[in-house]
Amino acid sequence: MTQSWDIVIVGGGLAGYVAAAYLSKTNLSITLLEKGKSLGGRARTNKVNQQYFNLGPHALYKKGKAKSILEEIGISLRGKSPKLSGIIVENNTEYTAPFSPLELFTTRLFTTTERMEWVGVLLKIMSTEPERLAEQTFQQWARQVAPSKKVRSLLYTLGRLATYCHAPEKMSAKVAITCLKNAMGGVLYLDGGWMTMINQLHQNAISSGVHVQPHRFVKQMEPSQQGQMKLILSDGEEILGKYVICTTGPHELNEMLSKKIEFPQREFLSHMIPVRGATLDVALTQLPNQKQLFAMDTTKPLYYSVHSNYARLSDDSRNAILHVFKYHHPDEHIDGSTIKYELERFLDKLQPGWQQHVISKRFIPNITVNQRLPQIGDEGMLQSSKTKIPGLYIAGDWASPDSILAEAAISSGKQAAEEITLNERRKNHANHERRLPAI
Ligand SMILES: Cc1cc2nc3c(=O)[nH]c(=O)nc-3n(C[C@H](O)[C@H](O)[C@H](O)COP(=O)(O)OP(=O)(O)OC[C@H]3O[C@@H](n4cnc5c(N)ncnc54)[C@H](O)[C@@H]3O)c2cc1C
Repeated sequence: MTQSWDIVIVGGGLAGYVAAAYLSKTNLSITLLEKGKSLGGRARTNKVNQQYFNLGPHALYKKGKAKSILEEIGISLRGKSPKLSGIIVENNTEYTAPFSPLELFTTRLFTTTERMEWVGVLLKIMSTEPERLAEQTFQQWARQVAPSKKVRSLLYTLGRLATYCHAPEKMSAKVAITCLKNAMGGVLYLDGGWMTMINQLHQNAISSGVHVQPHRFVKQMEPSQQGQMKLILSDGEEILGKYVICTTGPHELNEMLSKKIEFPQREFLSHMIPVRGATLDVALTQLPNQKQLFAMDTTKPLYYSVHSNYARLSDDSRNAILHVFKYHHPDEHIDGSTIKYELERFLDKLQPGWQQHVISKRFIPNITVNQRLPQIGDEGMLQSSKTKIPGLYIAGDWASPDSILAEAAISSGKQAAEEITLNERRKNHANHERRLPAI
């Protein structure tokens, strides 16, 4: 028998679950289809030998819209904020990171003139209205505010930290500055990892009647003759939905829609470039250097942070969970073994002898952090979640006009749910008007 639902959500990550949370307040029937056996998408946390490994370093902006949306739907977020301090590695030399006023005036990274220029850059980030930067790349903006190469190099490093994007010449300045402003408001590392958000979202979905179906791969989608969307699963089963919210990646969405279907956004979606990186997730019985908690390299796109210093990420509080990360440029050739070697040597420098204390380690050479590297002009195409195919809506970390990462996944999930709810209200209102007797 063909299943028929008011709402079919494709994808069980943050975007899909947030959409489900808002729609579950209506009386529409909802199902969520996830191709994986486990739920959560890229917000998954794996428990490996009693340690909680997020898929690479994950931090939630404290002042971002994602946190307030999650709180609005009753998700509790437990964790702590890392101190914005640590070291900057430049040409293999370590310097105190100039992130606090004291460190700014004591670090040997900068000359006096560069110090003043850096202060100017920080003030510019805080005072700039991102809306005004819609026509600029991050590189163009950086060249205006930071004439010195050294200061600009630190600005790009901070940009990578806030956005995960390592292509300032391609990236929209508007999104970069929005993320930098958010990052300067601080972040949270979550106790138990990001899966704690998914677990709560999942429980809430189940208890409000959402039918969650893991291990269901949607192969194809098309408008049906009855005016609904028809989804064809990999096992041949067909599911009908009055509305579909697709939270897969943009290329996956294009593949699901047969070329015979007219889809005006196809071309735009096909040009989206993902933001990628390599992650080395490590659990140690102890840190050889207890004081070395955070580092970034300005000459190479490398990151290191001990997340367990702030969040509970192990059943044994003495253990340390850290992430070493490399930001990939979109045109870069990825050679896994060379990158692994590079990340391990970076960690050798920061935590000499770490290999003797390993409980678990995991290396992922090429993971998609965000499905869209935000570029100039994208936002005009992403103003609404509603696509040109009736009943088909989009959400996910690529589908928001002005944000990326969890900010985009969560806000676009909410937006898709609100647009559908509004559409339903309008339709019900019009039906009611039609039924009113003529006087
Ligand atoms: C290494 C790394 C570090 C990150 N760090 C941060 C950070 O610090 N801060 C931050 O805000 N964000 C961070 N992110 C990004 C954040 O994790 C993602 O933006 C967010 O989880 C994406 O959620 P989503 O729902 O849009 O997509 P996903 O989580 O990818 O969910 C989409 C789901 O759709 C499913 N699916 C796909 N195709 C089909 C199909 N055909 N049928 C059925 N199901 C399908 C997938 O299996 C997946 O579960 C990081 C990501 C990574 C990988």
